[in-house]
Amino acid sequence: LIKIENLTKKFGENTILKNISAVVNEGDVISVVGPSGAGKSTFLRCITLLEKPSGGNVFLEGDNLVGKSDKELEQVRQKVGMVFQNFNLFPNLSVLQNLTLAPIKVKKTNEAQAKKEALALLEQVGLADKADAYPESLSGGQKQRVAIARALAMKPDVMLFDEPTSALDPEMVGEVLDVMKQLAKDGMTMVVVTHEMGFAKSVSNQVWFMENADIQEKTEPNQFFEQPTTERAQEFLSKIL
Ligand code: ATP
Ligand code: MG
Repeated sequence: LIKIENLTKKFGENTILKNISAVVNEGDVISVVGPSGAGKSTFLRCITLLEKPSGGNVFLEGDNLVGKSDKELEQVRQKVGMVFQNFNLFPNLSVLQNLTLAPIKVKKTNEAQAKKEALALLEQVGLADKADAYPESLSGGQKQRVAIARALAMKPDVMLFDEPTSALDPEMVGEVLDVMKQLAKDGMTMVVVTHEMGFAKSVSNQVWFMENADIQEKTEPNQFFEQPTTERAQEFLSKIL
């Protein structure tokens, strides 16, 4: 589904990503873990060309995104749902309008259909009763569930999450992880940058450990948590577990 080939990203003199190659297959749930500053967010942003790679290629369904115009990128980004740490909901729109805006504007879905689909998605994330609420009246966990539903409203082929629970009070982390778990169960392809090691261990089929501008390990979760191969991963785990 996604093929990353020799991806390099530099900010000035600093190499943030160095010659990374990786593949995301359909149905994969990949947890990207690693210390702060490792380049995890930059990596996710490069996958959708929100950040322009300094070198390498990114193929989405066989189509190289590097070299595409902004207009072409807008089209292909419809296939990729993104969820960020800070929700990024439109504050002046109701929950329902947050979900229907892009389908109506970008996909030209008719309004009645878009509403129907949005309500079904709100049901799925447990927020059917909040359709007419405004983001400011929601808790952090509710906002993040709306953000996930909004991304799903575009019917993406893959969902990218950048620390979706890091900005939440602890008691709200669970409700967001539950939605993500269900999504994984339903077969959604997901790449999740996370510090939630429980999620990485129990939900993902691969863990990618990033450090020092590279993915140091790509392995299945049990192996990663029980017998990490690299010293760097061992050190990382000893600090957080
Ligand atoms: P965290 O876990 O704290 O979110 P991260 O692994 O997501 O960290 P990135 O945000 O990708 O790390 O940042 C990697 C490095 O790139 C950092 O050293 C950061 O300072 C640098 N960096 C990120 N964005 C920019 C930018 N726009 N300009 C210059 N440097 C940047
Ligand atoms: Mg980050």
